[in-house]
Amino acid sequence: MTTSLVWFRDDLRVADHPALAAGRSEGAVVALYVLDEESEGIRPLGGAARWWLHHGLEDLRAGLERLNVPLVLRRGAAPEVLREVLEASSADAVYWNRRYGGPERSVDQRVKSEAAEAGLHAESFQASLLHEPWTVRNGQGEHYKVFTPFWKAASARHVRPPVDAPARQGSAPANLPDSEDLADWDLLPTHPDWAGGLREAWTPGEAAGHQALEDFLDGPVADYPQDRDRPSRPGTSRLSPYLRWGHVSPFQVWDAAVRARTPRNHQAVQTFTAELGWREFCWSQLYHHPDLAEANLRPEFSDYPWQWPRESGTPHDAGAFPDPVPDGGPSPTARVRAWRRGRTGVPLVDAGQRELWATGWMHNRVRMVTASFLVKNLGIHWRVGEQWFWDTLVDADAANNPANWQWVAGSGADAAPFFRIFNPLTQHDRFDPDDDYVRRWVPSFGQEGYPEPIVDVKQSRAAALEAYQRLRDAN
Ligand code: FAD
Repeated sequence: MTTSLVWFRDDLRVADHPALAAGRSEGAVVALYVLDEESEGIRPLGGAARWWLHHGLEDLRAGLERLNVPLVLRRGAAPEVLREVLEASSADAVYWNRRYGGPERSVDQRVKSEAAEAGLHAESFQASLLHEPWTVRNGQGEHYKVFTPFWKAASARHVRPPVDAPARQGSAPANLPDSEDLADWDLLPTHPDWAGGLREAWTPGEAAGHQALEDFLDGPVADYPQDRDRPSRPGTSRLSPYLRWGHVSPFQVWDAAVRARTPRNHQAVQTFTAELGWREFCWSQLYHHPDLAEANLRPEFSDYPWQWPRESGTPHDAGAFPDPVPDGGPSPTARVRAWRRGRTGVPLVDAGQRELWATGWMHNRVRMVTASFLVKNLGIHWRVGEQWFWDTLVDADAANNPANWQWVAGSGADAAPFFRIFNPLTQHDRFDPDDDYVRRWVPSFGQEGYPEPIVDVKQSRAAALEAYQRLRDAN
């Protein structure tokens, strides 16, 4: 009987998993997950992501067990691990769903050519994006740099229906490679265990992801265009970590959204699916710019006088100026510390940063406001914020995170113009008019112990605009 190895990555699910379906159609399957922290991703996983991954893998193991498919866990450089596991399982073929980041593509390419050299069949599938980055091109054959034409072109293309989970296999393959113990990977925080808020807020896994999708399409989607900007309301799907880890595929979301369409909610469903379009657009940016997390897409921004905190482990950039800060006030290090902890004295910013710290997630409107505040009012480089989000978000995504930071900073593709600076005070009035969200996360709001704003919002805005004008004059 044929044995196939199915290599799981950011696709921790058994339904709509074309690689698993292909393996099963050939015979018996062994599943593999490799924790490769050296050669993959833009940097090692952050703390919140590690917490999610632990539970996501437990859920995947349970899902595969129901199909009688054993899951092998290994740590190390993926190509070497693959070589060993293919040999130990006497597999004839290896299947996976494609990835689109630079380092991941090189790893996959290497595994594919080594498998071919060893006489094995290696095949990859489209599963994590509705439209692979090289397929959406303009009349000149170039990739789109602006969202609206990108999504217009992409959404005119066919989207395949989701693939069912395969049938249970009669018997597991005879040769089972050894698996490491998930607990030995130390993905969960212990000293201290800071994950209590994450446990309360989230259930990682495939069934919980589908429940979130169903709950959203059953009700909130109808008011999505208005409620999506109100952080105190459950107005968005909260699918981001499920999509990030692949518990739910974009094909499943698309299919369910199309089925949930009625004459009344048609427009609202379209607004929602356009957000999936932003996810596709961010991934297209990462595909075309593998250094999206490090380099401004608009190179002139390397001359913007963004600041770095003086901390070890913080990246340095040729364009960054040292102290003093242009508008006076606290040092960059103190600014970053206050921002991270939600102690800037700007209520909507503080609420967002505290929601993030407590739950591993932040509402999109508030992400835009706190990111803008860091980059424009506090004058700190967007990469400092991107790294903090990377470490604290359960949905920390190699494409969505840097692409959105660059969007806010003005340095990205189809970015918000730099001069359009969010005012965190008027945003608060507009989107949290009853202070429900702010009070939920900042109980001391409006009371004596709550700090004064760390910078003057108006003055710091003017300083940012001046710095931007100098940049424009120089370029
Ligand atoms: P919904 O409004 O229900 O949207 C549905 C799905 O569409 C989301 O789950 C997500 O996959 C996608 N989506 C929505 N908005 C965006 C967007 N602006 N860009 C790309 N995809 C989008 N999203 C991440 O998934 N991971 C990140 O690391 C991340 N970092 C961000 C950093 C900043 C500074 C900003 C401004 C936004 C970031 N986002 C990120 C995008 C967005 O904030 C989240 O996807 C969204 O808040 C998730 O909530 P939801 O699932 O309820 O979204």
